[in-house]
Amino acid sequence: MKKFLSIIAILVLIITQTACSERGAAGGATYSYAEDWLLNTFCYIKSFEPGQEDILKEAFKLAREYESKLSRTVADSQIVTGEYDAETEALLKTALDFEELSGGAFCVHLGAVSALWDFGGTSGGPFVPGADEIKEALSAQSLDLGAIAKGYIADRVADFLRSRSVNTAVISLGGNVVCLGRKASGDDWAIGIEKPFSGGGRLEERESAGVLSVGPDSSVVTSGIYERCFTADDGSFYHHILDPESGFPCESDIVSASIAGESSCVCDALATAAVVLGSDGAAELIESYNERCGADYGYVFIKADGGSIVSPGLFYEPEI
Ligand code: AMP
Ligand code: MG
Repeated sequence: MKKFLSIIAILVLIITQTACSERGAAGGATYSYAEDWLLNTFCYIKSFEPGQEDILKEAFKLAREYESKLSRTVADSQIVTGEYDAETEALLKTALDFEELSGGAFCVHLGAVSALWDFGGTSGGPFVPGADEIKEALSAQSLDLGAIAKGYIADRVADFLRSRSVNTAVISLGGNVVCLGRKASGDDWAIGIEKPFSGGGRLEERESAGVLSVGPDSSVVTSGIYERCFTADDGSFYHHILDPESGFPCESDIVSASIAGESSCVCDALATAAVVLGSDGAAELIESYNERCGADYGYVFIKADGGSIVSPGLFYEPEI
């Protein structure tokens, strides 16, 4: 049941090549596909060449290794024990840079607070904690890389696939999407952005808010308040993206932020920060990140009224 509920929370639907035709002209398969349950979400990889299933399964094995190093809910992970290897240290440094850049909106020290709310349901949650408990959890300053790790892992999976000559593929780790290589048709990748709160919790009824076109070797990551959320008996709505000052779900003028660009890790961090900051602060953050790093990250923010705010230069077509 939990698995099913999390599947419906997948943020991004991929619109793949022509109906992903199962059979080529000679009757053979035209693609390879593997799916798995990890990072507390549904993940899949689709390569547009046949016969690569074993490589895709190896890619999931690699992703699992990263999960066991980086997850705050794995008892002996490096994040829990504090014994970091050089790679984890570097990721922590990246995360701390985003914390600084975002003025603290992106915060890697919310581990104890997230554990209290338990939006992921690892300890029987979600719960609404008391104000005192939240205060104590905030002061614990314990680590949580949940807002950046999936993106980082998606990048490492993409590197692994390239090293094994998987040249054209879509990787989706619970909606952290990487489009590897260039489509055979030469067209851009078309990524459907989920319409927030659509489908009434039913996977098959989720709708698309619009389609985002991105070039080869791009990532698109969406953070949204409709994912891992619940309505309490008194009607209050709670979601998993927290205001680091209060420890409560953040209030924002946007219900989802989709970030497109080269690094899935960067997209992941920016997407979470964007929801916390709201549309004006988020646009400023992304523009200043681009300027500082000579990068070209774009955004689609979806507002509560269904309207969207799109960065200049990004090709996004809303559903009418
Ligand atoms: P994402 O789905 O990438 O937006 O990440 C959300 C996850 O990151 C949550 O489930 C928490 O584990 C953690 N988190 C919640 N609020 C924040 C925040 N303000 N900054 C960084 N991480 C957060
Ligand atoms: Mg994130």
